[in-house]
Amino acid sequence: MKLYNNTSVPDEILAPVLKEAAKAIKGTRHGKVVVKVIRSREHCTGAVFGTSSVSRNFLNPRKYPNERSGYVATDDAVVILRLPKAGDPILWPAHTWREPLYIAERFFDYALHEWGHVKDFQGEESFCHYRRRWANRPHERRAEGYMLEAKERGFSESAQMAIIDLAVYLESEVKSKP
Ligand SMILES: [Zn+2]
Repeated sequence: MKLYNNTSVPDEILAPVLKEAAKAIKGTRHGKVVVKVIRSREHCTGAVFGTSSVSRNFLNPRKYPNERSGYVATDDAVVILRLPKAGDPILWPAHTWREPLYIAERFFDYALHEWGHVKDFQGEESFCHYRRRWANRPHERRAEGYMLEAKERGFSESAQMAIIDLAVYLESEVKSKP
């Protein structure tokens, strides 16, 4: 995985969560897939698009401000995930989205879903259904299916540890606020 981490969460915390999610989706190659992570002021979101290369300026505009900073090759797909901050009582009054473990688990779910799309891109499954409503799109149903299969198999101990490590880090961010 080629991680472009636009957050203050260390790579050592973020990368294992993303890799374990990829490993849980059988048949997905993650070694050379580009993943961009950004911070969200709202809930988690995920997106993916099929491509063989992507510009560094798009992946991390702060680090690569120049539009000519070049392209990165990817294994058929670019994944984009947004990770919310925990504990903001103004943003999330009495809401589960304030809970670090809830956020870490949802982030893992979104990663699973997007890795499911990556599997399709790599397998050259059809993506020509964007005119249909989201829930009726066959590729969305497939991605949800891959995610449910992974959940039914159960997550490995290392996946569970990665999720907990992320939750602990999100908790520490809340505590370190002035
Ligand atoms: Zn999707």
